[in-house]
Amino acid sequence: MKITPDPIKIKQIHDYYKANTTLDPERGFLQFDNVPIIWARTSLLYHMLWEVQALVGDAAVEVMHRIGKPYGQNFFEMSANHLSKESQSPAKDDFLEYLAVETAAIGWGNISIEREGDDIKISCENGFPVGLLTKKNRDLAEYPVDTYFLGYFEGFITAWQGKDYRGKEIECVGKGDKRCLMQFTPK
Ligand SMILES: [Zn+2]
Repeated sequence: MKITPDPIKIKQIHDYYKANTTLDPERGFLQFDNVPIIWARTSLLYHMLWEVQALVGDAAVEVMHRIGKPYGQNFFEMSANHLSKESQSPAKDDFLEYLAVETAAIGWGNISIEREGDDIKISCENGFPVGLLTKKNRDLAEYPVDTYFLGYFEGFITAWQGKDYRGKEIECVGKGDKRCLMQFTPK
């Protein structure tokens, strides 16, 4: 089965974030509910990848992968909180739907999620931000570059399934593919 985010729900989540985000102009602090947040341009992750690459070489993709993972695990906890307010026992796929909706609401891209047995595929038809900026700003990469997002989804799926998953980006706009496609399998 394929999970795609509903544009109405994407807008609802986006509006909810905007309505519950406050600025303390004296301190320059931005807060969503009780969570300190930042608004960042997508070039943040693009520069992180390519500056780390300049320092340590191709291991940079693995560094970004590691950095993304705990953030995805953390978002799973937040989504469990959110979904438990809507239903006493949310269905397992509700988490994937929420992940797809939230990913689009925060501007990371419109993803679709497919489950095939224990395997999970996430595709982003327009491409994830690091791949898009790589294609725009420099020569095409020799390998997939959206490993921050890969790690993020891997962390989410690992927490959601309660067992270790490992992800791989198979297609990436940053290396000239039409879309970004990630595959996650249990370890
Ligand atoms: Zn990509």
